[in-house]
Amino acid sequence: MHDVIVIGGGPAGLMASIGAASHGASVLLLDKGDRLGRKLAISGGGRCNVTNRSPLDVLIANIPGNGRFMHSPFSVFNNEDIIQFFEGLGIELKEEDRGRMFPVNDKAATVVETLLGQVKALGVEIRTNTAVRSVEYTEDAVSQVLLKDGGQLPTKAVIIATGGKSVPHTGSTGDGYPWAEKAGHTITELYPTEVPITSDEPFIKAKSLQGLSLRDIELTVFNPKGKKIITHEGDMIFTHFGISGPAALRCSQFVVKALKKFDTPSIRMEIDLFPQQSEEALFQQLLAKAKQEPKKSLKNNLKGFAPERFLLFLYERLQLDSQLPSSTVSHDHWRALAHSCKHFSIEVNGTLSIEKAFVTGGGVSIKEIEPKTMQSRKKNGLYFCGEVLDIHGYTGGYNITCAFSTGYTAGKSAAEQAIHN
Ligand SMILES: Cc1cc2nc3c(=O)[nH]c(=O)nc-3n(C[C@H](O)[C@H](O)[C@H](O)COP(=O)(O)OP(=O)(O)OC[C@H]3O[C@@H](n4cnc5c(N)ncnc54)[C@H](O)[C@@H]3O)c2cc1C
Repeated sequence: MHDVIVIGGGPAGLMASIGAASHGASVLLLDKGDRLGRKLAISGGGRCNVTNRSPLDVLIANIPGNGRFMHSPFSVFNNEDIIQFFEGLGIELKEEDRGRMFPVNDKAATVVETLLGQVKALGVEIRTNTAVRSVEYTEDAVSQVLLKDGGQLPTKAVIIATGGKSVPHTGSTGDGYPWAEKAGHTITELYPTEVPITSDEPFIKAKSLQGLSLRDIELTVFNPKGKKIITHEGDMIFTHFGISGPAALRCSQFVVKALKKFDTPSIRMEIDLFPQQSEEALFQQLLAKAKQEPKKSLKNNLKGFAPERFLLFLYERLQLDSQLPSSTVSHDHWRALAHSCKHFSIEVNGTLSIEKAFVTGGGVSIKEIEPKTMQSRKKNGLYFCGEVLDIHGYTGGYNITCAFSTGYTAGKSAAEQAIHN
């Protein structure tokens, strides 16, 4: 019999195995897939965004789904510990924009292999192609794990690290939720987060701007009364169904929540192409251009001012003949151009499905989890870590950091408890 059984070999389960084995427990790691760390291998654009080097307060701020809960697991194992862990195993990491950390060789496989190497070096028994059917309990504790093939595995401690429901081909199919419910846990409503946003706007349906990327913009979600809910800056892209890219992904959960909260079919978002300038300054800048080159056509005069495809779209929308000399463009039209660049409005009606989302929002309620140990408050010897929990961050390494941190914390505590009992 193993001291600890870990279910799921994503970043949370792999680190839980390491945490448990390095604290003296005999560990069995089960995964239903033929490979471990499949989602980790495709994260961060396939380069594996192992963690984020931001200071603690920034980390927490970037975990909009119950970030404050992470104070305790971070006190056990945080982003700097993750960096030391990998560097200690000879994996050099580099920092990119917004604190994102990647392996220097940009190869996700290196990260997964390193984790696996460490799991094996610590003597963890790994069984892939082994799907868990359920976790069984006595009145107050974990008793055994039942496998889909009929196997029964009695144990003192179980760590559920089965992930969320997003991108199911990586193995994350929501299997852990019913096991948690059976133990008496609450599953908060699941929803897609870090997910592309959909829109029925005629210009989206007509694919007028499809494929156009906008850099360093600000994207705002409004409530039906026109009040700002959230603004995120970064890059975005128009797609054939709506908008995507980092800023849109960050806004997506607020779209999901607002549509539900206000029970409305659509809400408004706004793109600000020039977040560093006021509308008036932009208008003055346009006027100055017209003054400097009065004879130049509008189109030629504004080359490089904003992405050309976007400007051509605006000219058409504002019924501006872009071949006309700049001097003939009215003040009202210059103002309308400046306004459209600062307040480009897009009505959005939802997101892609939870299966297509990068991350699952909702999950096992954190109210029923002991944050210092990740142990269930319902059953002794039951632990949770990673995305199965109602904890989610923006993309940028925050989810993986949570998975490693809660995973290590759960593994360490499970080992200490299993060995002492
Ligand atoms: C394309 C993509 C890009 C991403 N990019 C980023 C990023 O840049 N930054 C970031 O922070 N996050 C990113 N994420 C999210 C991040 O990868 C996840 O939050 C993280 O992998 C969750 O880790 P986990 O260990 O909790 O679960 P998972 O990685 O989902 O692992 C769960 C494991 O459990 C196993 N399992 C499930 N059910 C069973 C069962 N019944 N029996 C046995 N095994 C089972 C599965 O096979 C799987 O291996 C990205 C996600 C995707 C899809």
